[in-house]
Amino acid sequence: MNEATSSNGEGMNNEERLLELAKNKPEGISNEQIKQCMPNLLLEELAIIINKCLKNGSLELFKTKDKLLYKYKDSSKKNIVRGSDNEEKIVYKIIEEAGNKGIWIRDIRFKSNLNMTQLNKVLKSLETKKIIKAVKSVSASKKKVYMLYDLEADSSVTGGAWYQDQDFESEFVDVLSQQCHRYLRQKWDDANNMGGGPLLARNRSYATANDVHKFISELGISKVSLSVDDIESILYTVVLDNNAERIVASNGSFLYRAVNKFMSTPGLVKTTCGICPIANRCADTGLINPQAF
Ligand code: SF4
Repeated sequence: MNEATSSNGEGMNNEERLLELAKNKPEGISNEQIKQCMPNLLLEELAIIINKCLKNGSLELFKTKDKLLYKYKDSSKKNIVRGSDNEEKIVYKIIEEAGNKGIWIRDIRFKSNLNMTQLNKVLKSLETKKIIKAVKSVSASKKKVYMLYDLEADSSVTGGAWYQDQDFESEFVDVLSQQCHRYLRQKWDDANNMGGGPLLARNRSYATANDVHKFISELGISKVSLSVDDIESILYTVVLDNNAERIVASNGSFLYRAVNKFMSTPGLVKTTCGICPIANRCADTGLINPQAF
């Protein structure tokens, strides 16, 4: 009987047992650990099984500082490697390592040492097989990054909830910002109407990003699912617009409260001289004067 397929008495052959062991140890399994778990197996038999698994792509060999480890390879990935030529395998590996942030074609070329024609052919083939996909990056409209087909692109690539097809949804952000401000304003009014003195009213008027997130979710104005962090960034724009203030709570989180807008700045202050940091040294004569600039 072939040792690789001899039964262990539990309906599993040695190869299956080895793969099961590797599956349960995603960080990798060493020769010693395999021997401990399969003590009845002779070294030669083990070598045959391991070689078979390495050859058919069920196991991968990794080298750590002082030992060799075997890792189980996902069958879907194994099929990709099986049905692809060497160039595709190299490019696939590079793209896989880039994760959901993707990798730019120039970097793939640099890492793979393939020329542009070869690389384009390989990328096209992998894209056609739906193994990888190209995603446009919001950071540069003409820049595409490649990532594995099943991955959801990182928000640094897609721009997160505020981008639709690489376009910034300014109207959506404006509406959200208005609604966040409306909630804070309502909370402020309610706190004042409750009475109990200005300090108590002030303390009552603070809201957390979670409160606002709940309010926005219940309004149902967003087709995409927004996280508390998304709402936090919208609230920050409300603060920057001088419509709210933000303080740090004792637990380190932020609290928001609607405020009356500051008086609008007179036009004169907005002129170049109005904001000039050396205006106090400016005169008709001397080095710093209106004609000198
Ligand atoms: S240097 Fe004088 S003229 Fe120039 S911007 Fe400043 S204040 Fe105005």
